[in-house]
Amino acid sequence: MLQIHDNEDSPAKSRSFRNSEQISSTPGALVNTTRKREDYLEWPEYFMAVAFLSAQRSKDPSSQVGACIVNQENKIVGIGYNGMPNGCDDDLLPWSRSADNQLDTKYPYVCHAELNAIMNKNSADVKGCTMYVALFPCNECAKLIIQAGLKEVVYLSDKYHDTPQMAASRRLLSMAGIMYRQFKPKRTEIVIDFNSINYPGMLNCATK
Ligand SMILES: [Zn+2]
Repeated sequence: MLQIHDNEDSPAKSRSFRNSEQISSTPGALVNTTRKREDYLEWPEYFMAVAFLSAQRSKDPSSQVGACIVNQENKIVGIGYNGMPNGCDDDLLPWSRSADNQLDTKYPYVCHAELNAIMNKNSADVKGCTMYVALFPCNECAKLIIQAGLKEVVYLSDKYHDTPQMAASRRLLSMAGIMYRQFKPKRTEIVIDFNSINYPGMLNCATK
């Protein structure tokens, strides 16, 4: 089942419960299966969730970041997560954040999610597209985003806002006319349960 945790009470939810006609297999949960769902994922939540799901592929022990590039038709044209370059053994390269020698940290080697999403594109280019990314992009990724012709960045966290890299990134993105905005999720959590497909109305019934 998909567990959806709202930050606020939703009128749509109580309406759907009032019209309930079917009792799901989840104890206490009433599910309306005669009308369209009201609490389906909206596009921005969906794309950000795809970015977060992609991040689950990352082998980085301290930071898992995903990015999802979407064209003007709401079609996904690129997905990426942070990792070592293709053909470079991620068992041999370092993953630590600090060391006496910078060459013994991950930083000179790792490819950021934004880079991988752009390089993984399945379209001719990503001009005019929007990138959904978990973290505000660093200055190196800002350069890539600009040169690739993206028009907008939607990020979730800005936890490194006060670093020089992020200040440089904002400066570059602003000069290049690329919009960036923080995504404020209505839900705090989306849980994927593979068993949900075996139950009627499964996605509606698991709201906590
Ligand atoms: Zn970056």
